[in-house]
Amino acid sequence: MALSGPVGLVWLRRDLRTRDHAALFHALRGCAQVHCVFLFDDAILAPLARADRRVEFIHDSLACVDVQLRTLAGQADAGLIVRQGLAEEEIPRLAQQLGATAVFANHDDEPQSLARDARVRAALQSAGVALHTYKDHVIFERDEVLTLAGAPFSVFTPYKNAWLRKLNAFYLSSYPVERYAAHLAPRPAQYRHLPTLAETGFEPTNLHQLALPTGSVGADQLLADFVPRLAQYGDTRDFPAVKGPSYLSVHLRFGTVSIRELARLAWTESSQHQSPGAAVWLSELVWRDFYHQILAHHPRVVTQAFKPAYDAIAWESGAEAERLFAAWCEGRTGYPLVDAAMAQINQTGYMHNRLRMVVASFLVKDLGIDWRWGEQYFAEQLNDFDLAANNGGWQWAASTGCDAQPYFRIFNPISQSEKFDAAGRFIRRYLPQLAALPDKLIHAPWKAGPLELAAAGVSLVDAGEALGASSYPRPIVDHAEARDRTLARFSVVKGAVDSQ
Ligand code: FAD
Repeated sequence: MALSGPVGLVWLRRDLRTRDHAALFHALRGCAQVHCVFLFDDAILAPLARADRRVEFIHDSLACVDVQLRTLAGQADAGLIVRQGLAEEEIPRLAQQLGATAVFANHDDEPQSLARDARVRAALQSAGVALHTYKDHVIFERDEVLTLAGAPFSVFTPYKNAWLRKLNAFYLSSYPVERYAAHLAPRPAQYRHLPTLAETGFEPTNLHQLALPTGSVGADQLLADFVPRLAQYGDTRDFPAVKGPSYLSVHLRFGTVSIRELARLAWTESSQHQSPGAAVWLSELVWRDFYHQILAHHPRVVTQAFKPAYDAIAWESGAEAERLFAAWCEGRTGYPLVDAAMAQINQTGYMHNRLRMVVASFLVKDLGIDWRWGEQYFAEQLNDFDLAANNGGWQWAASTGCDAQPYFRIFNPISQSEKFDAAGRFIRRYLPQLAALPDKLIHAPWKAGPLELAAAGVSLVDAGEALGASSYPRPIVDHAEARDRTLARFSVVKGAVDSQ
């Protein structure tokens, strides 16, 4: 028998799961009948290439949500409603069709999302429908962790200390969605079809060939795989050839896993079982919150340097800069670790954290190119692209950000390679043409003599020459000379560094 009472609509966005879901919990607790919708938002989809791993990841994950909703409800007619269009039109229209008096969603503090939510709220309001939103995506958001003076933190370590002081079991506990699952409503017949990928206007990618399971079932698999490795995380996380990190970033991005479940695991393992790896991993989850609150407090970082003085830096521009940028994007810089990392992002949509730092530093400090160019390229390529973390990471590497590395600290791409991929295992995986070079030469093939190159079957070519299966470019820039140019370029901010 159908329950009577208010009807609620849960609008899923970057929270594609049913377990431990704040908005779903509040809707189920407050409404007798609850529907759930995901909207393929044309405003977000329009600029994307027609083959985009993120869209396919979302599409797969929605099928998982659909099954979970029906299982939770215990009825075949329940499940996810999937629509496509503009949020400010489709969400109010659907709310009206379903007779919903309230829409429930989780916070998304990216500036464009806040603007979208303001438009949706206004449209709903004029139809007499409320929009209720909740924290779900982070442990602490917005103004929850502030300095004693009540200001936002801009340095990580004191932020982390305050974050840890505030943390307790309450903030880590899950929303017991199951308790009210009987309030899930059957879908009207016209909404029981989940669109195919083609119907959303997209083509398949290589997502299914990658070891990247989708949906919350996929997140659970990755987590189960990571748990036995967690204690070693601190020792393994910096070596790209080693299976060190969790690979959960895309799941955190799209909310196919709950941050509370992950932080609870890390906290319990580090505080009760003294796992050193868990403490380091928890720190990374705190970095995630840190960058989210930076974006929430300083939305100007989307286009500007966090430290305003750094906007005076003159970056390279013109045809030469475009040529260098294209070489970086395509992994043709002549620095094997940089090129292997760019091959990784181009082929898989993932890049190891150590390598994100190396390639970002290389673009900004070896090629003199504006960090925003690299940030944009990552935004297009990364499966886990997240505005707050990506902007934070780029501004950190470019030294323009809050708590960034100082501008005079310039990664040497060869010593980074020798240190973090000593045996060249990662390089060989992505640059098979260099596979036969000895370990000591694989980090800088131009240092090899003609006989060593011939023995390894490698031919070095100049920048711009066509690359064959066995050829590899000479370096597009000399690191020592680039370092001097960078120190000169950044000298405009010398006085500003200490005062920021
Ligand atoms: P793990 O090592 O298992 O870490 C667990 C989780 O902690 C990650 O999934 C992520 O959610 C969070 N995390 C880890 N490191 C950071 C960090 N430095 N900042 C914020 N959160 C972190 N991360 C993104 O999620 N999206 C991005 O778009 C993104 N762009 C980046 C760009 C640059 C230039 C740099 C230097 C870093 C960027 N990062 C980004 C942070 C980090 O590289 C990735 O989160 C990490 O490599 C993802 O792999 P993992 O899930 O195996 O991480």
